[in-house]
Amino acid sequence: MSTTLTIVGCAGSTAGPDSACSSYLVSHTDTAGRTWRLVLDLGSGAIGPLQRYCEPVGLDAVLVSHGHPDHCADLGALDVLRRYGPGRDVDLPLIPLLGPEGLDRRIGQISGDLDDRGAETFDFRPLAHGDVTRIGPFVIEAARAFHPVPALAYLVTVGQSSLLYTGDTARCAEVDALAARAHTILGEAGWAHREINPPGVHLNGDELGQMAAQAGVSSLVVTHVASWVDPAPTLAQVQRHVPGAVLARPGDVIAL
Ligand SMILES: [Zn+2]
Ligand SMILES: [Zn+2]
Repeated sequence: MSTTLTIVGCAGSTAGPDSACSSYLVSHTDTAGRTWRLVLDLGSGAIGPLQRYCEPVGLDAVLVSHGHPDHCADLGALDVLRRYGPGRDVDLPLIPLLGPEGLDRRIGQISGDLDDRGAETFDFRPLAHGDVTRIGPFVIEAARAFHPVPALAYLVTVGQSSLLYTGDTARCAEVDALAARAHTILGEAGWAHREINPPGVHLNGDELGQMAAQAGVSSLVVTHVASWVDPAPTLAQVQRHVPGAVLARPGDVIAL
C-alpha cells in the first residue's frame, strides 16, 4: 500500500506564471494493486497539469472546498473533457463531486448555461459541517471553515494516513479540531502579502504555523501563498512554529 499527495497547482488567489491555482491529487494504491485517485479542489488552470499525473476523466472523486474560482473554476473544464474529450465515447461512471451545498450551480455559472449543473459528468453530493462519507478507501470528514462564502475543510483518512486540507480559512475551532487528528496538514497561508488583514478570510504564516504546532503536527505543507508574492518570508514565518514545514511546489510528490 502507498499513499501520495501530488501538488498539481498551489498558486493562491490567481494562477501565477509557474503554477495553476489550488489542486492536489491524493493517490492510494491498495493491497490489490488498484490505484484510487481523489482530487482536492480544481482551481483555475489545474486541468492542464493534472493531465501529467492521471487521466482526469477517470478520477474516483473530486472534493471542492468552496466556490471561489481559484478552487473550482476547472470543474467546467473537467465537464468539457468528459463530454467532448477522451471520455466522450467511454461508458465511465459519474464522478462523485463533494462540496458545500450549491456548488453544483457554479458549474452552470462557469459554462454560461445556468440550468447546467454538470449532471452528465458529476454525481453531486453536498456536504456540511460534521459529515463523514466514504469514497473507496478514503474516509472524508468535513468541517466548516471561516471564509466569506460557504467553505469546508476536509480530513481525508486512508490506511494509516490522515491529511487535513484547510481549503481557505481563517483560524477557527472547527478546523483546529480536524487538525488535532491529522498526520499531515496541507494548509493555506493566503495572507502572506499583507500585514493587517480583514477577519474571516485567510491564515497568515504565523497563524498556520501556530495551528499545526498546537495540533502537534510536524508534517506541514504550506500552500495558497498569493501568486504575486515571494513565498520565502511566509515559509520562514511558518517554520518559526514548525521547523520542518515545506512549501508546496507544482509537481512535488509527498508520501503520506
Ligand atoms: Zn483561494
Ligand atoms: Zn476563497
